[in-house]
Amino acid sequence: MYKLNYDPLICKGCKTIDCLVKCQYQDFKDINRAREEKNKILNGEYSKVLDDCRTCYGCEEYCPNNNHPFYQIVELQEKLNIKNVPDPIFKQQLRMMGPKNRIKTQSLKPPIIDMCLFPQLIDNIKGKLYEGASIIWGGDIFCNIMWLHCANMSVILDRLPKMIQNIYEYYIKQSETDEIICFHDECYGAFTQLAPAYGIDVPFKPVHIFEYISKKLDELKLHIKPLNQKIAYQRPCSNRLCSDMDEKLDEIFHKIGAIRVKRTYDKNTPLCCGSVLRIQQKDREADEIQRENISDMKGTGARIAVFNCPMCMMTLGEEVAAQGLFPLHVSDLVRHALGEI
Ligand code: SF4
Ligand code: SF4
Repeated sequence: MYKLNYDPLICKGCKTIDCLVKCQYQDFKDINRAREEKNKILNGEYSKVLDDCRTCYGCEEYCPNNNHPFYQIVELQEKLNIKNVPDPIFKQQLRMMGPKNRIKTQSLKPPIIDMCLFPQLIDNIKGKLYEGASIIWGGDIFCNIMWLHCANMSVILDRLPKMIQNIYEYYIKQSETDEIICFHDECYGAFTQLAPAYGIDVPFKPVHIFEYISKKLDELKLHIKPLNQKIAYQRPCSNRLCSDMDEKLDEIFHKIGAIRVKRTYDKNTPLCCGSVLRIQQKDREADEIQRENISDMKGTGARIAVFNCPMCMMTLGEEVAAQGLFPLHVSDLVRHALGEI
């Protein structure tokens, strides 16, 4: 059985309680109240945090000690049977996204692009950026960490190790590379942050899509036509598991001459796209957050809204377009700078 690697004594001695004080969805200006609630969590007792958490993954980024406050919350939510998603929805999604045992052994040519469970964006994998790429996707390699939004860690700990093994056994073992390019932050975060937090072995090298694109841009620099465009970026929850990759995005923007506008809801204060809140049946809150988020994007004067998370893009894309901003995936923004679209 996999066990979360964290030290409760570090939390007990923590001076800042950043995990709660910095939370955008709960008011913990009073550090003593934050400490009280944190102690309840550490003691395995009910805390209002378990009900009020919006599962933004933010505290995983805020904790200066890498002590996994969000995973502590999810484990306790599950233990105390605190449901943030109605049972029928949870069970239906669990079945729908479960392993299908349809995976077949393949020898793949690099780069291997892991599209997770989002074949809708397969068309994005073309042009100079992805020349010769092999694409993998499907329920048998789905990282499954979306269950963090549903107060459930045990499904992740059951499925993720098998998915990692599937990737290795069916694809990596007989291929020319040990690198998997993660198109979605969620998979990269699962392989490089959640898996080590639980001691799950990852027998291949995960590469974030931003690392891959940034490196490719060096090879393709003669083809780049600087965009000189202001861009509003929607930073997704799963990028908070790999914040160093956010700097890689700045690197990409710099290389293609794009300007990442300063806005209230970017960097370490991004706002949920709303999809999770809708699964959690918090529609009114989702409406408000989407309005605030898009109005913040518009207020910057940007004409393009850029997404990396396919789910954020599917959720906010139409709304953003209705407000006069052009929704684009990072990958397509880069292809635009390469003169391909
Ligand atoms: S999880 Fe991190 S920030 Fe929160 S109390 Fe523990 S050490 Fe401090
Ligand atoms: S996951 Fe987000 S909403 Fe939940 S406690 Fe952490 S920072 Fe707050």
